[in-house]
Parts: sequence; structure tokens; C-alpha cells
Amino acid sequence: MPVANPKKANPSAIIPDAPKKITRKKKTPKIIAVVNPDNCTGCEACIPFCPVDCIEHVPRDASDNVGVIIDPVQVRFDECIGCKICVNVCERMAWDAIAMYPAADVAEFFGIELHDKYEDAVAAHAGEAAGA
Ligand code: SF4
Ligand code: SF4
Repeated sequence: MPVANPKKANPSAIIPDAPKKITRKKKTPKIIAVVNPDNCTGCEACIPFCPVDCIEHVPRDASDNVGVIIDPVQVRFDECIGCKICVNVCERMAWDAIAMYPAADVAEFFGIELHDKYEDAVAAHAGEAAGA
């Protein structure tokens, strides 16, 4: 039976190769990736495809009752460049755990400040971690 949409039958036509070189954010994107921890299996399929290497494991909320023992991943929102590659990877290779949201909504929901440049994002995060 013919395949109506060849891209759907060939994930590699949609998912690019994992980047050989990690780049860095220069401007806050309009949309940012957010992982739904209830849907994330922690499989790590998305991690190597992120061109700015901003997806990492985070501890699962102890009140979660989803029956999954592997910690989920989450995006370091202030480093995301909004490329949507992780969404495609998760949809095609794993599950359906990542969605894109307007950057302003993500900032408001998580109570964070977004910075244009990677260096400023990292400096701000370092300050938060140090309790500044
Ligand atoms: S590919 Fe999807 S399910 Fe796997 S770790 Fe990434 S977000 Fe979670
Ligand atoms: S949208 Fe792109 S930059 Fe943002 S987390 Fe996903 S792969 Fe990384």
C-alpha cells in the first residue's frame, strides 16, 4: 500500500542529524520548548539532538504518581533557541512529551527572567544557584 506522506514513513527526513558542534543562544526566541514530566519517560532520545545542549535530567516530583522510575528531562528555558527539533525527536522516536509555548508565557508560568544572550542566561542562573 503506498505511503501517503513519505516524511511520516522516514523519520530521518524530519529529524536532522545530531549537531557536531554546540551553538549558543544570541536572542530570546518567540517560542520555547517545555517538557511535560508526566509524559516524559526519561529515555534521553531528545538530548543529543539539541543544538545548544540545553536539555537535562531533573528530579521527578515525589508527588508524581505516574509509575515511572526514571527521572524526566527538562529544558533549561533561558538557553533554548526555539528550534523545535526536540519536539520532532520525541514525537518520532519516543513519546509526545515536549511542546512549544510562547516565551513570555513560559517566563510568567515558571517565574523566570529570559535573557537574549547565552552568557547572560548562564550568569543569571549561576547567581540564582548561589542565592544572589
Ligand atoms: S525524547 Fe521525550 S520521552 Fe524521551 S527524554 Fe526526551 S522528552 Fe522525555
Ligand atoms: S527547541 Fe531546540 S533549543 Fe530548545 S530545547 Fe528543543 S532542541 Fe533544544
